[in-house]
Amino acid sequence: MKVLINNELQDRQEVKVDIEDRGYQFGDGVYEVIRVYEGVPYTLDEHLARFYRSSKEIGITPHLSLEELKQKLILLIKENGLNDGGIYVQMSRGVAPRKHQYEVNLTPELVAYPVPSKRPDKEQKEGVAAITAEDLRWLRCDIKSLNLLYNIMIKQKAHESGAFEGILVRDGNITEGTSSNIFIIKDRTIYTHPAGNLILNGITRTKLLELFKSKGWAYKEQAFSKETLLQADEVFMSSTTAEVVPITSIDGKPVGNGSAGSFTVEIREAFQELIKNATAA
Ligand code: PMP
Repeated sequence: MKVLINNELQDRQEVKVDIEDRGYQFGDGVYEVIRVYEGVPYTLDEHLARFYRSSKEIGITPHLSLEELKQKLILLIKENGLNDGGIYVQMSRGVAPRKHQYEVNLTPELVAYPVPSKRPDKEQKEGVAAITAEDLRWLRCDIKSLNLLYNIMIKQKAHESGAFEGILVRDGNITEGTSSNIFIIKDRTIYTHPAGNLILNGITRTKLLELFKSKGWAYKEQAFSKETLLQADEVFMSSTTAEVVPITSIDGKPVGNGSAGSFTVEIREAFQELIKNATAA
């Protein structure tokens, strides 16, 4: 496997991570996951824009321009012969003797490589179980930071209880999933938490909202309570790797009739059509 390290492609075996990389020691960095379909990255520009925004928010200045990184990632996909999968990109603040404060002129360390990612067909068709948990994360969830400790704690809890996703609840309202955005449907209207500091504004979420608009489907970016979630007609999650996955049970109780909702299926199919058109050669 070829890995992009800063400006150059290296073999996986040759890659070395410095023990004093701040990403490794403090989670001091940002990341993205980009989906590749038939060798073509989907919404690459949107992911890179978010990557650069996240880095700016925490004061990391990339050593590559967005356009240079874009070309390097396209080369990485080509050199790895990646057809169907994902690209993981992370940038840490850099390498320095371990202390919390940092010198502002550190050179960031960029790493990108292919990660296996398959469309989760079974989950998309049959739906998945979810659990709810209190959202105890910090208040800058809009930054796609390497610090994912609380997200992984709840994802693990979900996994150990046989569920696919943990849905986070802050002050009684649903914010998002541990690695996804959450949508509900009530009386044919789609609801999702507004963008802001309490959620990561998903690229899939943004694309879905554009889709709803173009289809004339009623939607509201409006916070909703856990009670409303549990009484929804349909619930689904969205993310780059999952796309649109129906949530058919929450905390052991069925959502609607307990099977993938028909509107969710329509949304998923329309989204996959979008992907197909966008990545067609
Ligand atoms: N929220 C969180 C916390 C996430 O980790 C993700 C996955 N990156 C999402 C939402 C969905 O974002 P996207 O559609 O850009 O993958």
